[in-house]
Amino acid sequence: MLEITNLVKSFGGVRATDDVTMTFEAGSLTAIIGPNGAGKSTFFNLLSGAFRPDSGDIRLDGQSIVGLGIGEIVRRGIGRAFQVASIFPSLTVEETMLAAVSAHHGHASRLGSRFPLASTRSHAAHCIEMVGLTAKRDTLSANLSHGDQKLLDIALALVLEPKVLLLDEPTAGMGPEERWRVIEKVRELWERQKITVVFIEHDMDIVFKIAPSIRVLSYGRVLAQGSPQEIRTNPAVIEAYLGT
Ligand code: ADP
Ligand code: MG
Repeated sequence: MLEITNLVKSFGGVRATDDVTMTFEAGSLTAIIGPNGAGKSTFFNLLSGAFRPDSGDIRLDGQSIVGLGIGEIVRRGIGRAFQVASIFPSLTVEETMLAAVSAHHGHASRLGSRFPLASTRSHAAHCIEMVGLTAKRDTLSANLSHGDQKLLDIALALVLEPKVLLLDEPTAGMGPEERWRVIEKVRELWERQKITVVFIEHDMDIVFKIAPSIRVLSYGRVLAQGSPQEIRTNPAVIEAYLGT
């Protein structure tokens, strides 16, 4: 459903994305791994429309999204979590979500809402529930743990009901326990909502345990792709990334 073909993006002399071709099946959960500077974040920036590729194509359900604005790409169904929950420290979880849903309903009603029947309140409650924050709906976002703030970021990305959810290092900066709590919620969300989830992750224990499918980037190129077992035992991956 998401098909990337021969994607290239350079910064000066650096080919941050170098002829990347890969496909994400509808409803799949995929981890992207690779050393620092491998081009993982650049790849997400291309998919979400933040960067425009030098060449190559990105097709969502058969239609090219290259050159479309970020807003249009989000409306087509590619969602991405940003670190935004903490921008509204004095709003509760519920207030943050209500603000986001109202803002998007405003947009949606002009452009054809994808959820015309859902009321703002029930849609906000649904998004909060999907990430497991219902019990904390009255907590100020400033008072949430780092992990819960990340879950709120993800809930905000769910407001427009993405087909594809991109998460760039969702567990970064967390202790081991909180990492697992957040990634388990992501896995649950994927299982229950049938959305396509692609996440960038450094913690190999998490990657090998959670992701049925893994893609390895190195120097902007696809070094390997496969199951945890295939990636674990791939000599090129061991040499470039996993070590011996
Ligand atoms: P990763 O997320 O895998 O660590 P990035 O995609 O952030 O890697 O970076 C890949 C390469 O592209 C690096 O060499 C980085 O310096 C370069 N790069 C990324 N974004 C920019 C940018 N906006 N301007 C210039 N160079 C960039
Ligand atoms: Mg990065």
